[in-house]
Amino acid sequence: MKSKAAVLFEVGQKLEVCEVDVADPQPGEVRVRMVAGGVCHSDLHVMTGHLVAPVPAVLGHEGAGVVHDVGAGVTSVKPGDHVIPLWRLSCGECEYCTGGRPALCAIGTEIRWSGRLADGTSRFSLDGRELKHFAGVSTFSNYTVVPEKAILKIPADIPLERAALLGCAVITGVGAVINASQVRPGRTVAVFGTGGVGVNVVQGAVLAGAEKIIAVDLMASRLEEARNFGATHLVNPADGDPVEQIRALTGGRGVDYSFEVIGLPLTMRQSYDCLAKRGVAMIVGITPTTAEVTVSSLSLVYEERVLTGSLYGSAAPKTDIPRLIDLYRAGSLKLDELLTRSYPLEEINEAYADLESGATLRSVVTF
Ligand SMILES: [Zn+2]
Ligand SMILES: [Zn+2]
Repeated sequence: MKSKAAVLFEVGQKLEVCEVDVADPQPGEVRVRMVAGGVCHSDLHVMTGHLVAPVPAVLGHEGAGVVHDVGAGVTSVKPGDHVIPLWRLSCGECEYCTGGRPALCAIGTEIRWSGRLADGTSRFSLDGRELKHFAGVSTFSNYTVVPEKAILKIPADIPLERAALLGCAVITGVGAVINASQVRPGRTVAVFGTGGVGVNVVQGAVLAGAEKIIAVDLMASRLEEARNFGATHLVNPADGDPVEQIRALTGGRGVDYSFEVIGLPLTMRQSYDCLAKRGVAMIVGITPTTAEVTVSSLSLVYEERVLTGSLYGSAAPKTDIPRLIDLYRAGSLKLDELLTRSYPLEEINEAYADLESGATLRSVVTF
């Protein structure tokens, strides 16, 4: 069938909205009519080449929609069901899947690098030329085909534009706190970068009962957003070394947990330097492929600090996202406040320009 989609033909170019062909779902696959696609930084990293992905490709990895039809053998969803595609495919059987870390499953990595589905082919084409899938989901298409294992059914009463954000920004940010770091009540937290994922780290820290939540960002508007999501202290590096500012706010001690949600070696280093003894620096931001970070090796021993990272909120999305929906219903998870704007698909490049300039916190494109 024909579908409107945003295609990246070459790295360094803008997205082009065109009419592509979407093939029927094969056994074990689901064709989804997307209603909203989330405008996330990771796609921007692919457009600029910071993050390597096969092209030409239909981008988008966050979104929500309605099942249109299903391939043979699909049992967990049926046409009409509301669903979220999960951008990290997992097999459900390997040691990482059964150990509660499905984002680390090898088939997720494979589909991410190949840009093709399980049988080694793509469901997208343009005038007979193959277009790649992005992360196995390609949510910037009115119709997309996704493996059943990467589909989560959600309740039909959650607005799909908001539900879309659960699939990346919310689970990545909240999960980095709850799953990866297991922040305990009364602890201190610093968050470097308070965009769409960063404010979810902030609200994750609120849910975990952190006592002090220090937001760090160069943009005053983003710091104010962080305050709305529960940050107790705001640090702007324009006012001086953020590490010193964080130490001053914690009586010289440093924080128990820091989160880097930008993807820069400098801020990764700062997120490590602002730790208390036994503190944990959790990297969530995506750096260019070749970037490296160095830290004082002696501090690893003498202060028992930890530098590590979290992929996809270190989550088990099929159990964690329904819990997040419960928290949203209970009023404990801010989702309405997160979605600051929606654009028609045709304006997707404007949506990315607004994301880059900080004019939007999190936005979606709609079909
Ligand atoms: Zn994302
Ligand atoms: Zn697995």
